[in-house]
Amino acid sequence: MNYYLDPKFTDPKRIARERNKARELKKTSWWKQKIQKGICNYCEKKYAAGELTMDHIVPIARGGESVKNNIVPACRECNQKKRLDTPVDALLKQNSD
Ligand SMILES: [Zn+2]
Repeated sequence: MNYYLDPKFTDPKRIARERNKARELKKTSWWKQKIQKGICNYCEKKYAAGELTMDHIVPIARGGESVKNNIVPACRECNQKKRLDTPVDALLKQNSD
């Protein structure tokens, strides 16, 4: 693992702010269209909109932000799997194809 928890990323105020931004993004038509399509960003299988969760590619606690290019729909299974990977690994896998 070549990343560490930077105190400036784990500041509870920052995390609360990014979570709030994520909640706001969930209300946007941008997000609604994404989950209506029903495709998980990781396994690319089709799911009902209600089965997809909002996933931060780089988690907030690792410096990720609640911005459109860091947020993707993920099924529960992939969300679980991703927790076991480091974000760096997840990004490398995404960019390798
Ligand atoms: Zn999936």
